Amino acid sequence: MGQPEVRKLVIVGGGTAGWITAAAFARLLGQRLAIELVESEAIGTVGVGEATIPQIIRLNAILGLDENEFLRATSGTFKLGIEFVDWGRKGARYLHTFGDTGMALGNVGFHHYWRRSVAEGAPSSLWEWSLHQMAADGARFGKLDRIGNTSMTGLAYAYHFDASRYALFLRAYAEGRGVTRTEGIVESVERDGESGDLTAITLKDGRRVEGDFFIDCTGFRALLLGEALGVGYRDWSKWLPCDRALAVPSERLPVLVPYTRATARDAGWQWRIPLQHRTGNGHVYSSGFTSDEDAADTLVQGLDTKALGDPRPIRFTTGRRESFWAHNCAAIGLSSGFLEPLESTSIHLIQSHVSRLIQLFPRSGDPAAMRAEYNARCSAEFAQIRDFLILHYHLTTREDSEFWRYCRHMEVPDSLTHKMALFAASGRVGRDVDDLFRDASWVQVMLGQGIMPADHDPMADQVSPAQLAEFLANVKTITQRAVAGLPSHEDYLARHCPADASLLAA
Ligand SMILES: Cc1cc2nc3c(=O)[nH]c(=O)nc-3n(C[C@H](O)[C@H](O)[C@H](O)COP(=O)(O)OP(=O)(O)OC[C@H]3O[C@@H](n4cnc5c(N)ncnc54)[C@H](O)[C@@H]3O)c2cc1C
Repeated sequence: MGQPEVRKLVIVGGGTAGWITAAAFARLLGQRLAIELVESEAIGTVGVGEATIPQIIRLNAILGLDENEFLRATSGTFKLGIEFVDWGRKGARYLHTFGDTGMALGNVGFHHYWRRSVAEGAPSSLWEWSLHQMAADGARFGKLDRIGNTSMTGLAYAYHFDASRYALFLRAYAEGRGVTRTEGIVESVERDGESGDLTAITLKDGRRVEGDFFIDCTGFRALLLGEALGVGYRDWSKWLPCDRALAVPSERLPVLVPYTRATARDAGWQWRIPLQHRTGNGHVYSSGFTSDEDAADTLVQGLDTKALGDPRPIRFTTGRRESFWAHNCAAIGLSSGFLEPLESTSIHLIQSHVSRLIQLFPRSGDPAAMRAEYNARCSAEFAQIRDFLILHYHLTTREDSEFWRYCRHMEVPDSLTHKMALFAASGRVGRDVDDLFRDASWVQVMLGQGIMPADHDPMADQVSPAQLAEFLANVKTITQRAVAGLPSHEDYLARHCPADASLLAA
């Protein structure tokens, strides 16, 4: 049965997902759609989600947000990557950076030249050539598009921010562009008797909100797509067994480092996210392998600064909805599925789903083809990120707890087994063309977790040993020089985007 013309969009939920969705639709389709967002302060939001990946810069650009203004409003800091501590083995650490390491020559990635030099007797770490690692070590940050006058790319970055402030910031943006906000608790959902499409939601106080298209941003509840439309959930916890988190803020770090830290624990891992006015911390763990009490102790003992409250529990099941758009309703945010925050991908998934939905948004008629395309592309993206996350757990030599033994020996998807085998044999990355994570990410995480490739690309043998040594030395010197010219992260923030005084006092 065909859809009527879509004139009225109803977004249910006002967390990060709801307000990103509202802001983007208002900006890009606001002229032809009436947009109403329904949320309930009494229910509140999940209240976590402070680390991002560089794609967020594109979202902010589409919305026309000013970076400094947005960072001031959210107490934000810059992020060059994630430091993984104790993952491949206890005592190991590496930075998964957002940038390239060194410089590719022709079509051959830098890590092949580095691998050749190691094989020829010059032991070193790939990260000795990483601009991002050097900047992170020195707690430096600045805008650097490329290194000197070379073709080497500069600092790629994302942000850490206070997510509730981000949602407020986007709320002001969206309301300023005509989005109507309705406060209330959704009690029931109405469907058309013939088509099964959603027609309206009814609030607890009896008000009815009608719409032509609905976006479910109700978080883990998935009130519309899950409950009302009955779309099932695909559980991936056999590969990603963490199912709980405890989150707690602590005092600001003495030095604001420009990276997230993810430290492996006995039954999960702990995050540390530096903001200007406080530090975000949390322990993501598997209830099958530890108790809530032990998990809370682990979190508190692992804090670098004084806790500013009691740990707050959150439960989740890793996985995704069987489909992301059914009838005239799409789910965006936690309602669409959840991949744990190890690589800070949830806000990115919100953003990519919103932009995909806008690109495929039905004007009228039967949207079956657009829906199928949307569902296929969202499914592929979820699976790619899933594999990348599993890699961190599975590629380990740790046997020191039941949790790590499970992760090390579990069966993983064939798609991931192939990628690990290819890299181990040849240093090559078998990445899907539209994979969110670039070759540089796969290389860093596979090396960082412990695979040293058995070989390098034979094209890296084209240069003589002397030329190779000179190339490596030059790249390192130029990179070191570029980092020496960067201001400290603290100075950069103080100069361009100090957090609003009200936040610092909070
Ligand atoms: C432990 C943890 C750590 C995370 N860390 C990161 C991170 O570092 N980076 C990252 O990108 N992401 C992270 N995420 C994910 C991130 O928090 C979410 O993707 C993001 O906050 C979006 O949430 P949401 O808006 O979908 O849901 P919520 O924040 O839960 O919002 C749901 C909304 O729906 C409303 N609602 C629900 N039911 C009703 C009802 N009956 N009537 C009316 N309104 C209703 C609520 O009031 C609320 O406004 C993390 C998630 C978890 C669990």
